[in-house]
Amino acid sequence: MIIAITADYLQDPTTHLRQMFPDAEIRANGTGQILPRDVLLEQIVGADAVIAFGRDLVDAEFFEAAGPQLRIVANTAVGVDNIDLVEARRRGIHVTNTPDPVCEPTADAAWLLMLTAARRVTEAQDLVRSGSWEGFWPTLLVGRKMLRKTLLVVGAGRIGQAIARRSIGWEMNVLYVANSDKPRLEASPIEARRVALEDGLARADFVCLCVPLTDETHHLMDARRLALMKESAVLVNVARGPVVDEAALVQALQEKRIFAAGLDVFEKEPALQAGLSALPNVVLLPHLGSATVEDRNWVIEMATESVIAALRDQVPENLV
Ligand code: NAP
Repeated sequence: MIIAITADYLQDPTTHLRQMFPDAEIRANGTGQILPRDVLLEQIVGADAVIAFGRDLVDAEFFEAAGPQLRIVANTAVGVDNIDLVEARRRGIHVTNTPDPVCEPTADAAWLLMLTAARRVTEAQDLVRSGSWEGFWPTLLVGRKMLRKTLLVVGAGRIGQAIARRSIGWEMNVLYVANSDKPRLEASPIEARRVALEDGLARADFVCLCVPLTDETHHLMDARRLALMKESAVLVNVARGPVVDEAALVQALQEKRIFAAGLDVFEKEPALQAGLSALPNVVLLPHLGSATVEDRNWVIEMATESVIAALRDQVPENLV
């Protein structure tokens, strides 16, 4: 039996896997870096199980390289836009993800981005660190208030609802976009209202993107929809980079057609759209949504349990 682990984790899953399957060959990454495609495809040859991560393209070529014995790809993320699910299903390969561990930290990251973008933290940090700050001044770096403003959650799933829950302390008016009604979100104390995206964009002071990346959500926030936002509004993306047309966003920020943006994900990450990093009115994080010690450990534990279940001919939890 062969188990391949394509990335490195804070908590090494190999000890646990060896205890469960003493005869298994466990192929870890161990380089601290993403494996080049050819090395990755070599690493998974003959694997019965693969613990993959969001930067691995898990497509027909991947499945072909692994071979017909492959039983499970356990993705250490909730998003599975890196995986060809149709091809996996056709081949009878289980795909699992890790929704619970990434939900709350990503909601925190969304709030971090909303607050820091609204309060101009990029400019503030630059000023203080540069040594050119001349002291308190009433007009210095004045930002936007969040209390009692309108929050639009685009994608009211696990993360979107966790973001909305956090708004109670700010007494916000919550609007949401989803494929279906969310009665729990509409009930007290949040009392959110489902709206059409265009309507919500025109009304919101804060827009949080937390939809999965699909053909439908690719460039969901394009130039036309960005133009619907208020000049005073803040856009946050904790979903996937291609949900936003980044070139159109840079233009909107340059022309101050929206107040600010907070981005955890990028269209061609780690590459940035030209002009983005020079903008003062944007907060940029290197895809850190779920990056807490506790949650990263939970993610790898969950993926490891999925692999153990599949290799014991049980149906793993968190099947996609
Ligand atoms: P989820 O529970 O599946 O929620 C997704 C929500 O999006 C659902 O409410 C769904 O509506 C809605 N939706 C789907 N397609 C839509 C569309 N075309 N228009 C409007 N709404 C649509 O997923 P989740 O766990 O919250 O995660 C969401 C995404 O966040 C993931 O797919 C991942 O890409 C991203 N993420 C990023 C990070 C990070 O590090 N930045 C970490 C974790 C996750 P219905 O419920 O009505 O179907």
